[in-house]
Amino acid sequence: MQTTRYQVTPLDPNAHVFEVRCTVDDPDPAGQRFRLPTWIPGSYLIREFARQFVHVRAEAAGRAIPIAKEAKDVWRAAPGEGPLTVVAKVYAFDLSVRTAYLDRTRAYFNGPSVFLSPEGRESAPCTVELIPPSGDDFRDWRVATTLESDGAPPHAFGRYRAANYDDLIDHPVEMSDFALASFAAGGVRHEIAVTGRQQADLERLARDLARVCQWQIDLFGNAPQSRPPFDRYLFQITAVGDGYGGLEHRSSTSLVCRRDELPMRGRSEIDDGYLNLLGLASHEYFHSWNVKRIKPAAFMPYDLTREGYTRQLWAFEGATSYYDDLALVRSGVIDDARYLELLGRAITQVLRTPGRHVQSVGDSSFDAWIKFYRQDENSPNVVVSYYAKGSLVAAALDLTLRKRGRATLDDVLRALWERYGRAGVGVPEGAIDAIVAEIAGDDMRDFFARFVHGTDDPPLAELLDSFGVDFHVRAAVNAADRGGKPSTAPPPTCWLGAKVAKDLTLQNVFTGSPAERAGLAANDVLVAVDGVRASADLLDKLATTRSAGEHVGVHAFRRDELIVVDVELAGAPLDTCWLTMREEPSGDAARLRQHWLHG
Ligand code: ZN
Repeated sequence: MQTTRYQVTPLDPNAHVFEVRCTVDDPDPAGQRFRLPTWIPGSYLIREFARQFVHVRAEAAGRAIPIAKEAKDVWRAAPGEGPLTVVAKVYAFDLSVRTAYLDRTRAYFNGPSVFLSPEGRESAPCTVELIPPSGDDFRDWRVATTLESDGAPPHAFGRYRAANYDDLIDHPVEMSDFALASFAAGGVRHEIAVTGRQQADLERLARDLARVCQWQIDLFGNAPQSRPPFDRYLFQITAVGDGYGGLEHRSSTSLVCRRDELPMRGRSEIDDGYLNLLGLASHEYFHSWNVKRIKPAAFMPYDLTREGYTRQLWAFEGATSYYDDLALVRSGVIDDARYLELLGRAITQVLRTPGRHVQSVGDSSFDAWIKFYRQDENSPNVVVSYYAKGSLVAAALDLTLRKRGRATLDDVLRALWERYGRAGVGVPEGAIDAIVAEIAGDDMRDFFARFVHGTDDPPLAELLDSFGVDFHVRAAVNAADRGGKPSTAPPPTCWLGAKVAKDLTLQNVFTGSPAERAGLAANDVLVAVDGVRASADLLDKLATTRSAGEHVGVHAFRRDELIVVDVELAGAPLDTCWLTMREEPSGDAARLRQHWLHG
């Protein structure tokens, strides 16, 4: 099949417009159809990338020919002789890792949001010509991508290639004057390209990531000869004032982080911000195996025209969320106490979600498209995160297997890698349950029925006890309290049952809470409590001075109408967890804990 040729030009940085050309030498004589994906793998929401195609025209053998839309995501060119070129102007001003962005500081794109797919030619090889923006302002710009070079020197504009359309759209491209660092892991060169103003210690970031990456490579690859399943890897990082996000690809990842999460020069401690960035990078790297190669059968191949349904995202995102932080302690980047703090925070996040008793992580996976990715004021009451609870289910599964002494979750992942990932076979629905049962040599049906397909809380307190780790809960002391450690602040004595924003708007009203019973609702704005003007201070004072069973009068605006309600306060829920290492664990517990945290 003839090569599909693409060309991308950052045409007008001030107007945020790329020009993207797609040329087919032997178009369908009946009129070639072109399709744009509606979603990007890894982010389960119909995004309608065609929304940002602001102008589309076609030419054949140098002459303009008609092209018309046949559906929201489909164009058809008039019948004619080749070569046929479609020229699209694409608006790009989304700073997230999922679409595309262009201004005078950088150009970035993900393939699904810019590359039209000529129908019937999905398996044809592709080339991409990357053209620099015109003007002296851009002469320091370079290119960071894992698209294979087709003549372009390293980090240069020029020609790149991909094996087929699926490969083409899995290598996001960064064009800017990024800073660059590199390291080796598994005998393979890894690069870190950082865009945005920053003065970080990138050498330190490279050293820490090298340990984390090597540990992951060894997990799947049977150290010491282990090699990763790619021959180079790229971390694309965009540093901003405030932002967070990551998206995995087969040999790269795009991350957005806060500038102050990058490691500072002259420092050696790992603060919470840097820990957040390391966890994110570790998470996306783990996906190189778990979801990019070990994939649900529903994604083999991806149907990017509509939703792809699977009940397994809890395993792909949840297990990845469990291993992202675990890799930090197992690789020696953080110590045991720091890891337990992170696990305590993850448990806290789930304990604060009443929706965990309404939706299973299996159902949350299936409905990701309309629920997890489209959250509203009621989501905490009815939706559970297949990331957060999924990570606790993965932890409980690992600890259960370890306690039985037969195997670990590492063995399950290696089996999935050998049978599905390395073999290039999709994981059918239900196959993970079966592999766990086979490896554990025990019937694990009850575990999956209760914690994956049902809404029970995984029994982490009981499991951790066998590992010499004590599980504690307390009430949250304020809005900034994420759990993970004990608190010396006075504990709250009562609870309103709503999440209140700084401007006193109720963001969420929790199921069965005093606020809900009194008739308060999300978006109500608090005006006064017991006749005194409401403020964040007043609410904090209320929480530590009043008791369960007491009544308070609340004035609030709903839309522009004043409402007055009587709230009967309840006791504060014990939804904040922290974990501690038992100082003198039994011999069994000490051995289990050592194996779990240090292999
Ligand atoms: Zn993920």
